[in-house]
This record gives sequence, structure tokens and C-alpha cells, in this order.
Amino acid sequence: MPEDCIFCQIVAGEIPSNTVYEDDEVFAFLDVNPLAPGHTLVIPKDHHERLNDLPADLADDLYEALHELIPAVEDAVDAPASNVGFNNGEASGQEVPHVHGHIIPRFEDDGGHPIHAVGG
Ligand code: 5GP
Repeated sequence: MPEDCIFCQIVAGEIPSNTVYEDDEVFAFLDVNPLAPGHTLVIPKDHHERLNDLPADLADDLYEALHELIPAVEDAVDAPASNVGFNNGEASGQEVPHVHGHIIPRFEDDGGHPIHAVGG
């Protein structure tokens, strides 16, 4: 693991986080700067920078966790929907270079935006 990766440090317990889910391959925790109540980050424990860097079996594990966590997170905050997405590479807005999916609960008339911000 790169020593300066904050998400590797969170997985290792060296930086505290509010853990939402953990199995052998995947870890999920609350975003420290949430865009909505329940904003959750879902990551592979192994360090890979981009979604397309993941080996297929790990991508499967990550998807299976998302499949369970999306409705669980929505239920936890009583949200009828969520934005689910990955920033993939620095120019896309990926600030932490360790693959992470965002689950951002959405509410009726919450004033947020869908994911089609490119070009405004
Ligand atoms: P990105 O812009 O890379 O897709 O998203 C990175 C996310 O990680 C941001 O939403 C940011 O708030 C979150 N984040 C950054 N550092 C930490 C941290 O130390 N702990 C937690 N829980 N979230 C973090």
C-alpha cells in the first residue's frame, strides 16, 4: 500500500472512520464531508487508483457490495433514491487516488444535481 494513501490508512485503522460495511475485500465508510446525510464511500481494500485498474474478480466484489449497500444506505436515511458514481482520474475530480464509489442519498426537491455536470 502507498504510505500516503488516506483510504489505505482508513482500511488499516490508522485513520478513524465511521464504518458502514466491511468484508474481506471491500470497506465502506461515511464521507467526512457529506453531500447529503448518509453519503457513503465504498472501496476495495487493496490499493488501485482507478476503477478500470481493478482485476475483474475485485470489480465483482465491489459491485456485489454496492448492490447490497445502495438500498441499505437509502433505507438508513429514508431516501427514495441516490446518486451512485465514481470519479475516475484527477481531471474528473478524483481527489483521492484509491478507487471509491460514492453513494449519495437523494431526497425529493433537495436542490441537488444529477450526474451530468460536464459542460454545465
Ligand atoms: P473524490 O473527489 O476523490 O471522488 O472523493 C473523495 C471523497 O473522500 C470526498 O468526498 C471527501 O470528502 C472524502 N474524504 C477525503 N478524506 C477523507 C477522510 O479522511 N475520511 C473520510 N471519511 N472521507 C474523506
